[in-house]
Amino acid sequence: KEFGEISIKDLDQLARSSFPLCMRHLFDKYVFRRLFTFLLSLTLCVSLYAKGVGLRMEDALAFWKAEFSHKVGAERFDKEYAYSIRHNYGKEGKRTDYTPYSCQKIISSTPGVGDHHGCPYRHFSEENLRAALGRMGVGSRAMEDVVDKVRNRHYQLACTLTFEAVHSSSCDAGINHPNQYFSDSHKILQP
Ligand code: SF4
Repeated sequence: KEFGEISIKDLDQLARSSFPLCMRHLFDKYVFRRLFTFLLSLTLCVSLYAKGVGLRMEDALAFWKAEFSHKVGAERFDKEYAYSIRHNYGKEGKRTDYTPYSCQKIISSTPGVGDHHGCPYRHFSEENLRAALGRMGVGSRAMEDVVDKVRNRHYQLACTLTFEAVHSSSCDAGINHPNQYFSDSHKILQP
């Protein structure tokens, strides 16, 4: 089944069932706990990802407005932040329709202190990674395999093993893009 557009009300459930660890971490950090700074990296990572999984621009704007306007005010949101979201969708500036980041690009990024973007397999401590994998429902045997891949710097393979563990299904192509993780998950969970 082709993956179509998703709506805001499905995001919470989809984040838990089908987001890769990198996006799940950002979603938890910024959306639910509301511990955020509206950094460019955040708008790029999260809103491009949301776009890639099929969130319509109007819904993305409504979603971020609901999250941010009580902090920054609706007027400031409309003036400053809505621009970056429309920009990501190619509706402002040079009107480039931006492509969501690939794993390679996320893995090679260098998150600063306090930033939450990046690939958790590369950028988390082993302790934090184990805790995050446990929250995703990865069992102890699979967790050792994942950690082993991470120690050997095979971050995408670690993500692939995580995918296979939480979906009880193989992922022969391997994970090379957060949006691919999402769409492959969606195909398995909602065939
Ligand atoms: Fe995200 Fe890719 Fe890292 Fe998986 S390997 S957590 S999809 S960046």
